[in-house]
Amino acid sequence: MPEEPGDWAPAVFEEHGRHLLAVLREHFESIRQVPVTVPRDTGDLSASLRAELPEHGVDFERVLADTRELVVPYLVHWNHPSFHGYFSNSASFPGILAETMTAALNVNAMLWKSGPAASALERVVLGWVAEMAGYPAEADAVLVNGASLATLYALAAARDAALGPSVRVEGLAGRDLPVLRLYTSDQAHSSVDKAAITLGFGLANLVKVPTDERYRMRPEALEAAIRDDLAAGFKPVAVVATAGTTSVGAADPIPAIAGVCERTGVWLHVDAAFGGFWRLAPSLADHVEDVSRADSLVVNPHKCLYIPMEATALHCRRRGALADTFRLVAEYLTSAQDEHTVDYMNLTPQLGRSFRALKLWWVIRTFGRAGLARRLEHSVELANWLREAVTAEPLWHCPVDSIYPLVCLRFEPDAGREARDRLNAEIVEELNASGEAFVSHTVLDDGYVIRVSIGNIHTTRADVERLWRALREIAARRFSLPRAA
Ligand SMILES: *Cc1c(COP(=O)(O)O)cnc(C)c1O
Repeated sequence: MPEEPGDWAPAVFEEHGRHLLAVLREHFESIRQVPVTVPRDTGDLSASLRAELPEHGVDFERVLADTRELVVPYLVHWNHPSFHGYFSNSASFPGILAETMTAALNVNAMLWKSGPAASALERVVLGWVAEMAGYPAEADAVLVNGASLATLYALAAARDAALGPSVRVEGLAGRDLPVLRLYTSDQAHSSVDKAAITLGFGLANLVKVPTDERYRMRPEALEAAIRDDLAAGFKPVAVVATAGTTSVGAADPIPAIAGVCERTGVWLHVDAAFGGFWRLAPSLADHVEDVSRADSLVVNPHKCLYIPMEATALHCRRRGALADTFRLVAEYLTSAQDEHTVDYMNLTPQLGRSFRALKLWWVIRTFGRAGLARRLEHSVELANWLREAVTAEPLWHCPVDSIYPLVCLRFEPDAGREARDRLNAEIVEELNASGEAFVSHTVLDDGYVIRVSIGNIHTTRADVERLWRALREIAARRFSLPRAA
């Protein structure tokens, strides 16, 4: 058979790999000249990428060239030091290399016996993650692909713990069951709503507990809601508290909420997807809420721990609860068990699982706890610098503070709310269109605010200064235009 473009000897693989690394090196060396976002007019991307299913293979060099030409310029560069939208994250260099190694080994970490060191390493890194997040290391834990699914799984376990094993057999419908209730704050992530839908609670039974003036759940309102529901014959199943809300980075008073849950016998799930690791930063160590009393906890190493996407940790102190819900062993998956083994397929619905532990192991070992802490502290310092700069500027304000490096700011000239909202939305749009930086927004009770999330591993003080200058310049230009007209 003649050689086809896809027939790579290992030496050819190395050659292409070296070329790819050179391309990536150039990308990172010139990253500050790369626009963070796509140009305003991208044309019809689907049309430029549309092609017939290729009948014959093409050279890898062609595929790589097309990627650089047709794909990369039309991405939003989340791994850019001027990306401050949503929650800024980073794939660090050791993490990027770990993804390659993971793919090369292509282990399926479903069972202990399907890759013993993969499962053993998962247990090790989850212990480290628990320690860093301040959660009991002996809890059950598992790596999953995102916080949304982690919350779904935790609430499934909470539901089954509340109803007992019959739910596995008889299901929920057509039975004599009370109305099942969930509680979270009006600031919680939409993944809680999605879990309520998926698990059959229904959105009507997700109680949105009111928050205080700093957007934190009010524990006394939570307790009253649970007690009212108990009096009405409903069954309170779980409370979801948040450490670091998506809108403004608020932290619910978790110890007080844990007290309510303990008094009423309700499962506490803590969503610390964003907030979970900031206690490592020395200046925040004493300010971050203690999560250790939660029945289950989700943290996102892919959000602030410099690990590439799809690395979330779900921890559960109620040992055996995840397995009570998800363990189901088909004959072809049976395996010998002892106290040293763990079959991760039993802790979530996912069977085939990539070897996610490796990227955590590489990144955490490469930086060390102290190295991670120093980088997190640096983000906190940059955010504090920006907050002070905003506060010192007469027409700019931070309408709400977060302990985390998420800065909410707003241009507040003497204009009505509607005009002010429009102006700030235009500032965001113009900044993002410029490609110089990327920010996102939220809407509070008193209007639109600009969100600046600081957390990329390569972001420097000069980057944040440049962002702040750009915001002020756009605002000054926009605000003077209608006046002059
Ligand atoms: C990011 C985030 C989520 C969703 O995380 P995914 O990993 O994208 O599913 C949920 N809750 C909070 C508080 C978050 O910050």
